[in-house]
Amino acid sequence: MSNLTGRFHSFQSLGTLDGPGVRFVAFAQGCPLRCGCCHNPDTWDMAGGKEWTAEDILKKALRFREYFGEEGGITLSGGEPLMQAAFAAELFRLSREAGLNTCLDTSGCALNDGVEELLAVTDRVLLDIKYVTEEKYRAHVGCSLAAPLRFLARLNEMGLPTTLRQVTMPGLNDDEESVRQLIRIAEAHPCVDKVELLPFRKVCQVKYDDMGLSFPFAHIPSPDSASMEKLRGLIPAHLGEDKSSRPKERAVHSELSSGKVKTGC
Ligand code: SF4
Repeated sequence: MSNLTGRFHSFQSLGTLDGPGVRFVAFAQGCPLRCGCCHNPDTWDMAGGKEWTAEDILKKALRFREYFGEEGGITLSGGEPLMQAAFAAELFRLSREAGLNTCLDTSGCALNDGVEELLAVTDRVLLDIKYVTEEKYRAHVGCSLAAPLRFLARLNEMGLPTTLRQVTMPGLNDDEESVRQLIRIAEAHPCVDKVELLPFRKVCQVKYDDMGLSFPFAHIPSPDSASMEKLRGLIPAHLGEDKSSRPKERAVHSELSSGKVKTGC
């Protein structure tokens, strides 16, 4: 047993939106970025959340094992799990030993020895590429676009199955050229087998209000479904497979979905 502990914001027992199949999702506490579209400002504080051991999180996850099926398992989201890479690696190592599939939902903002250890025990990465220009990354994320691109290059070297995700924000990244550039990035990296566009939502406004913060993107509208459909239509079939469209998963999805809207990390 390891003495390592990690700080976590919360857990979702049966998630269907963060990786293949039905999954236990652990939301890591702490993020160094400040995305204007962030839906989880309550995960930013590195000293917040509660401390957990990997064994205790795994025990929680295993209670739901019967729902995971062949593709499901455990997902680490956040916040930014890369900030606690050594702990995350320990959790994923134990999860794999228990036979669970491991999925990492990340901004790709860091690459170091700890992150390498984590990637070595990760089965799939959900990589959020928020914009395709350096200017927008600097202005609305707080890091360089080079960071997630370097991370993606490493995933490609490892041949680690990757889903590229982007939250679609009107006026910022909802033009066809932006989506085409995202697809070009995906196609230049054969490890990417799926591209997902998620509509920007503002359900987090109340969190900002509670924290006394102003929501930087309060003025950005949510995209309508016709625009989302049009943009999703640009994604080539080989990058657009919906892994939750299989009949068995669809049944579980409708049984479990409780109105939760996936809004990005
Ligand atoms: S959107 Fe994700 S990466 Fe960006 S600030 Fe929020 S938690 Fe961090």
